[in-house]
Amino acid sequence: MKYDVIIVGAGPGGIFAAYELSEKRPELKIAVFEAGHALEKRKCPIDGDKIRTCIRCKSCSIMSGFGGAGAFSDGKYNITNDFGGTLHEYLGKQKATELMKYVDSINMAHGGEGTKLYSTAGTKFAKICLQNKLTLLNASVRHLGTDVNYVVLKNLYEKLKDRVTFYFDTPVEKLSVSENGYTVYTSTETYECSKCILSVGRVGSKWMQKVCEELEIPTKSNRVDIGVRVELPAVIFSHLTDELYESKIVYRTEKFEDRVRTFCMNPYGAVVNENTNGIVTVNGHSYEDPAKHTDNTNFALLVAKHFSEPFKDSNGYGESIARLSNMLGGGVIVQRFGDLVRGRRSTVSRIEEGLVRPTLAATPGDLSLVLPKRILDGIIEMIYALDKIAPGTANDDTLLYGVEVKFYNMEVAVDENLESRYKGLYVIGDGSGVTHSLSHASASGVYVARKIAEQ
Ligand SMILES: Cc1cc2nc3c(=O)[nH]c(=O)nc-3n(C[C@H](O)[C@H](O)[C@H](O)COP(=O)(O)OP(=O)(O)OC[C@H]3O[C@@H](n4cnc5c(N)ncnc54)[C@H](O)[C@@H]3O)c2cc1C
Repeated sequence: MKYDVIIVGAGPGGIFAAYELSEKRPELKIAVFEAGHALEKRKCPIDGDKIRTCIRCKSCSIMSGFGGAGAFSDGKYNITNDFGGTLHEYLGKQKATELMKYVDSINMAHGGEGTKLYSTAGTKFAKICLQNKLTLLNASVRHLGTDVNYVVLKNLYEKLKDRVTFYFDTPVEKLSVSENGYTVYTSTETYECSKCILSVGRVGSKWMQKVCEELEIPTKSNRVDIGVRVELPAVIFSHLTDELYESKIVYRTEKFEDRVRTFCMNPYGAVVNENTNGIVTVNGHSYEDPAKHTDNTNFALLVAKHFSEPFKDSNGYGESIARLSNMLGGGVIVQRFGDLVRGRRSTVSRIEEGLVRPTLAATPGDLSLVLPKRILDGIIEMIYALDKIAPGTANDDTLLYGVEVKFYNMEVAVDENLESRYKGLYVIGDGSGVTHSLSHASASGVYVARKIAEQ
């Protein structure tokens, strides 16, 4: 079968590439291959009752399927060049911002209207942070919420399904360069295309690596972020979250001068499991609908680890630490901050006696047996620093879930068009290593679609 354009991966990158291409060039024959399920079939089996922790499904519904890793995410679209990816290094800051705003307008036109756009512009918290050795990063953030995000995806699918051929539950196994373009191999069929967009996200990192090795596309990788997810009563952070929703705050540790940052803040949200290639880590989300709010806010505290020669496998390092927590806790470990600083493990009764009700069923344990000292020291220092702007953060009952690992896909060598060394082979979204967020991944899809449409 032959297509003009084949897109591998139906995450935000792939969806927005398909959307923009079908808008600009409706005559093109476009196919999207997705390893995971269609949107309505995506369901994580964890029900908090019979199934309380990750059972390692073959295709993780949190990470894979129409909507990609973003489908059950909090739907926070950060419009900024300060974090979320380095798209601006390829297309310039102005273009990157313009594309992120365009993505926002599409989301608003497909069910997102009425959701709130928060901004750090002119906030008093920038000064308060600086006075306490913390830096607040600039951003506007559209919070769709897990519920509205789902509606937007559903509407986008309704629009796309008659214009684009979707192959769900169909992982692409291999990609080869052919005479007039590319050949895509699934377990049963082969498909030809003139142009190919790879948008396989974090879950496709190993596949992407294999493709790059086979096609001799240069890559580099040397970073992984490791840390914990903090959960505390929402009131402790409400002065910040009510105004900014998400505050990206950076702290430079006194001991090692490492950078620790807050990441993915979910006011009134829930902590969830995340399964990346069989390794269970934590993440979080929250709903727009107040009826679905919890009493807690959660956010990650991450320490960036950069490696230099000779070690190259930064993701392998992160995986090993996550595996250690899976080995000790059977999955994710939870510990009270008070237990951690006293050098003792948390137990079921200590957690039950605490004032913070965990929103994820995790195994009480000791994170100091899992996280390297340097990382743990940085996290503890950051918790005390945050306690100055949000008193109560360092309370004994604050819960820490571990581990949270932010794997960075290796950076694939692409040019200013996000095109690899092969003409017509584009690599976008988190799978390219260029983006790490919904807005950047989506913007990269629009960008490449426009490049193809112009040709
Ligand atoms: C729980 C959770 C919450 C998050 N919250 C936020 C948030 O609030 N804000 C934010 O900015 N970011 C958030 N993120 C990150 C965000 O979801 C990603 O940055 C974004 O989805 C990346 O988009 P993408 O299209 O590049 O890749 P993905 O969304 O990962 O999509 C890639 C798709 O490709 C498919 N695929 C992979 N390999 C193959 C193959 N060989 N063949 C066929 N298909 C394949 C996968 O199944 C997947 O569906 C969150 C992530 C998680 C897991």
